[in-house]
Amino acid sequence: MLEKVLIANRGEIALRILRACRELGIKTVAAHSTADRSLKHVLLADETVCIGPPKSVDSYLNMPALISAAEVTDAVAIHPGYGFLSENADFAERVERSGFTFIGPTADVIRMMGDKVQAIRTMKAAGVPCVPGSDGPLGDNGDENLRIAREIGYPVIIKASGGGGGRGMRVVHSEASLLSAINLTRNEALAAFGNPEVYMEKFLERPRHIEFQVLADHHGNVIHLGERDCSMQRRHQKVIEEAPAPGITTEQRERMGKRCVRACEEIGYRNAGTFEFLYQDGEFFFIEMNTRVQVEHPVTELITGIDIVREQLLIAAGEKLSVRQKDVQIRGHAIECRINAEDAKTFMPSPGQVTLWHPPGGPGIRVDSHVYSGYSVPPYYDSMIGKVLASGQDRSSAIARMSIALSEMVIEGIRTNIPLHQEILSHSAFRTGGTDIHYLEKRLGL
Ligand code: ADP
Repeated sequence: MLEKVLIANRGEIALRILRACRELGIKTVAAHSTADRSLKHVLLADETVCIGPPKSVDSYLNMPALISAAEVTDAVAIHPGYGFLSENADFAERVERSGFTFIGPTADVIRMMGDKVQAIRTMKAAGVPCVPGSDGPLGDNGDENLRIAREIGYPVIIKASGGGGGRGMRVVHSEASLLSAINLTRNEALAAFGNPEVYMEKFLERPRHIEFQVLADHHGNVIHLGERDCSMQRRHQKVIEEAPAPGITTEQRERMGKRCVRACEEIGYRNAGTFEFLYQDGEFFFIEMNTRVQVEHPVTELITGIDIVREQLLIAAGEKLSVRQKDVQIRGHAIECRINAEDAKTFMPSPGQVTLWHPPGGPGIRVDSHVYSGYSVPPYYDSMIGKVLASGQDRSSAIARMSIALSEMVIEGIRTNIPLHQEILSHSAFRTGGTDIHYLEKRLGL
């Protein structure tokens, strides 16, 4: 087993990793910025190392500081969590070169999946269905690009090969604006990601976002844990996630799950990962692969009983997966609401001291959060302060439990998006299930 793990992250996921380590008897090192001395996992860790000032570029994105922290504490592995350096192939490479285990896939696989054009090519070759689009990056020939768009059919979306976080995309509705849109996206992509390469896809007008969770060990075993529906989004940011996805049949789950497993086998994927798809008119279209643990992983844990972070640690330690595909069973339904420190109407961040914190409880309720009464939410990082999860024997019981949980939850001192969640939960379209990715923004009048 791994003796000591350095947690290269903060907030709820750092605490989640710490808890999984403790359960396995693994010692923990919390690497934190000067703004995060009172984070819950920093207070609970066996050792702590301050890696720099508040700004992420100086701390949680500071590769030499993180690697030195692992060196001075004799950690043997680094868990990157999500965000920050979790999908940075150079970091994974430097971690491994320095003699530590990177808890995730190999640097090569991260690099391949980080380049969307390459990721799509790889997936196509592995038999995973992709969005109709340009076969590879767009060239400089305007006529040729106009021809490609005509063939795909408008509207199309121009996407940066190196894009991420919902940035570097532009929808084009007609021929008149195509070439200027390509140029603009190219320039933005170069400035934002250092890579001017762009490609074109059919813009799906009312898709749902459905993703498949996979786990792969170092012994050739790969399994999938079914799907999640993350269609409730604002500005490409997920707000509510659930599993299983409403209306997806066992046959669809098995067919798509198998394709994801096969793709993992072909690329030599290891550890936890997620295949993201757009789903429209009964068809799945691959958009990207996340080579890390995701914020919404607990909804899958709640319906399968499998601890994904624990599996990540066991896989990194060289152990075999603790479950086989035929033992994976999906039971009931789970929903997650992301709780953000922000105004529920204006979405303005609302950092500051949490003067009172009363998390909800009761049957089927799980709260993943690092917040406690008296904790101050710093202004430097993402506004998510935790996640409330509700599970039940079916979707309506999970929704009922979530509504009760949110109504019980008391957070004073800062504003949160709980009122927004309560409103969404009461919508008849949400209660029916299966809303598309534009639903929330349309409802909000954006
Ligand atoms: P990122 O890496 O920035 O998250 P993705 O490729 O995952 O980029 O796309 C992010 C979001 O953009 C998707 O969840 C979806 O809402 C929208 N999107 C991307 N491609 C398309 C498409 N071809 N048609 C419609 N919407 C799309």
